Amino acid sequence: MSLNSETQTTASTCCYCGVGCGVLIEHDGERILGVQGDPAHPANFGRLCSKGSTLHLTGDIDARALYPELRLAKGLARARTDWSTALDHAASRFAETIREYGPDSVAFYISGQLLTEDYYAFNKLARALVGTHNIDSNSRLCMSSAVVGYKRSLGVDAPPCSYEDLEQSDCVLIAGSNMAFAHPILFRRLEAAKAQRPDMRVIVIDPRRTDTCDLADLHLAIRPGTDVALFHGILHILIQEGWVARRFIAEHTEGFEALETQAADSTPEAVAELCGITESDLRCCAEWIGKSPTFLSLWCMGLNQSTAGSAKNSALINLHLATGMIGRPGCGPFSLTGQPNAMGGRETGSLANLLPGHREAGNAEHRAEVAQYWGVDSLPVRPGLTAIELFEAVRDGRIKALWIACTNPAQSLPDQLKIHEALAACPFVVVQEAFFTTETCRYADLLLPAASWGEKEGTVTNSERRVSHVRRAVPAPAEARPDWAIVCDFAQRLESQLRPGLPSLFDFDNAEALFEEYKQLTSGRDLDLTGIDYALLDNQGPQQWPLPVGATQGTPRLYVDGRFPTASSRARFVADAYCAPQEPRDDRYPLTLNTGRLRDQWHGMSRTGTAARLFGHVEQAMLSLHPDELHQRGLQDGQLVRVTSRRASLILPVQSDDAIQPGEAFLPMHWGDRFLKGLGCNVLTLPAFDPLSKQPELKHAAVAIEEAELP
Ligand code: SF4
Repeated sequence: MSLNSETQTTASTCCYCGVGCGVLIEHDGERILGVQGDPAHPANFGRLCSKGSTLHLTGDIDARALYPELRLAKGLARARTDWSTALDHAASRFAETIREYGPDSVAFYISGQLLTEDYYAFNKLARALVGTHNIDSNSRLCMSSAVVGYKRSLGVDAPPCSYEDLEQSDCVLIAGSNMAFAHPILFRRLEAAKAQRPDMRVIVIDPRRTDTCDLADLHLAIRPGTDVALFHGILHILIQEGWVARRFIAEHTEGFEALETQAADSTPEAVAELCGITESDLRCCAEWIGKSPTFLSLWCMGLNQSTAGSAKNSALINLHLATGMIGRPGCGPFSLTGQPNAMGGRETGSLANLLPGHREAGNAEHRAEVAQYWGVDSLPVRPGLTAIELFEAVRDGRIKALWIACTNPAQSLPDQLKIHEALAACPFVVVQEAFFTTETCRYADLLLPAASWGEKEGTVTNSERRVSHVRRAVPAPAEARPDWAIVCDFAQRLESQLRPGLPSLFDFDNAEALFEEYKQLTSGRDLDLTGIDYALLDNQGPQQWPLPVGATQGTPRLYVDGRFPTASSRARFVADAYCAPQEPRDDRYPLTLNTGRLRDQWHGMSRTGTAARLFGHVEQAMLSLHPDELHQRGLQDGQLVRVTSRRASLILPVQSDDAIQPGEAFLPMHWGDRFLKGLGCNVLTLPAFDPLSKQPELKHAAVAIEEAELP
């Protein structure tokens, strides 16, 4: 589309991944015409990846939810209604349910796609007005193991690094992350840094030989799920060779003795055997970490989406504490967030166990602080349900009214057939969505059209703790509204039923008012945002927290003084034992299924699926198998196969791929029932989750494969 003199430009932020790139939206005040990378944004300095650079081609109006739609009884079709009727109906249904069954009979399931202001409004609605902690986010599937890892090891949930550390490190370890596809602009920054500094070592730990491995000096293709054993084995060698920082350990940490005792058993021979790698590669990895002047680690879903996700995070952070590689340029443990505002969700307390300002829902003092700030008597003591638990409670009837915003659990949660059963059984399901095409929308008794990227205002925090202003460029189509506005409008109607006559808790005129209220809850906390406001972000650009009031700039790196936000001011070594994944292979299910992302698609494709260009890279979902596995089964490239797990099966084409190890299989996560014969990869995955983070094991299921024909 050509641009003319009427074209305006609005600076905003990409709505896909946690890199949080700045984009310049070109528009005519009504329609988005193009996008460019924002040269002034410190995440991307003008670059955009294939997804970001095609944002203007997505969001086809035919896929958009445009008007509220209400289903008056199960079995009837939804019919268009007006906002007032829709929200009055929702308020009555929620109020009736709460009166009859109590506040924990309702729940909210929200999203890392939401803006910080949306999150805050939802949190206040659930915890202060309804009186339940049954509010969880799809970030549970994404980052909750990293949250536990940071808190257990370092005291608070704060990635301590900056993107510029990628350019300053001598040794970069990438574990369980195909950055080349999932965080492309960061990967390009790393590529450029390595081109400038050929001595930089890059180590990739991944069962698959992904595109990220193109940059690797060493690729450890470990047996799936053996990461904890590997990290303990590396530690064993670091100790054995004297490559640990004894002074840093003595002055700034606690718990090393217990870990040292445990690591003594992780001999290189045993670990190499367990992990399926050579001992020399293991020793090489340890040597590069131990001898490099600086060491940075990056990780993502490969560590987090696991029944041992918390242990994997802590075992990796142990390596930084043992070598003293934290709090210095080019050093530190640095989790990459998947979603654009998973960080904002953590900050605002949008996981069931959290409260705003990095507080804990299980902490009486924290509950009292938040309740006092919100002007309510108290917050509930009863713990809330996390994602898997929450949908189990929907399925067994404990949750009777469910509000889902900006996420598609009917595709993204594991053991998907049970999620569909739950949604079908739930007496009242509200879905607040920009795209009516998601699988979840089908179950909506009330569908509320939400504004989308480029149509609403607020803030997001990216992986390096940097808060960016997301700006509105064009109006939302038809009757779609910003998420925060929908929440506040509903909340005021619910207030009139649950606390009539009292001043409203939701008297917000705009997103900025929500941000201003929320940020005071961070005052004095580790993430202090009180020095940030929209004007500062507009005038000085995105800022890294903490940035307390009075500070002149944000904080690029944490723990530079060697003090950690724990009771003793010391970081903690965590000595978790290695545990095998929940579902081992056996004769009946002889392959390990891994699921993951492709370069040009995002989540369930509600947005990227509207742009034909984004199917140029990969046209359709295929199951990738090692050539030997095809040969053994007499299968040909492109042939249809039935993939079966203990829960369900799918039919799709198979492709030969020697980047996959024998005994393993890979399936992209993006396709749902619009594209496959079946319901998408998560009919196969299992709902087992990490005991601490409650993050499900989406990357390890045992499956069988046989030749198939379409029924
Ligand atoms: Fe958007 Fe992520 Fe690509 Fe940046 S790297 S343009 S944030 S998808």
